[in-house]
Amino acid sequence: MARRQKDWAQKARVELLTKLGGFCVDCGERDMSCLVPDHRDAETRTWSTKGKDASWRMSLYRKDAEKGLLCVRCVNCNNFKGNRFNQESYRPSEIAEIPF
Ligand SMILES: [Zn+2]
Repeated sequence: MARRQKDWAQKARVELLTKLGGFCVDCGERDMSCLVPDHRDAETRTWSTKGKDASWRMSLYRKDAEKGLLCVRCVNCNNFKGNRFNQESYRPSEIAEIPF
């Protein structure tokens, strides 16, 4: 991916996480490097991060953020949530992937 696009995606990521509160809704973690946007309700997620580059994923996350579908979780809580509440559809390879 072009350097400019990557820079844009990184900046957009921090902006998005800040806008969504800037900390993990489960444990309060504030370290941006381990925070990810997360769909409040998994059913509102209509797309997959697989095979998409960072700027493409960012655009999709920003659209969903505008609709109020997202919150912030750290990677740990995100994995734990998948494990605890969603055992049947828990796919470690997909959930372990940091979306950008
Ligand atoms: Zn957390």
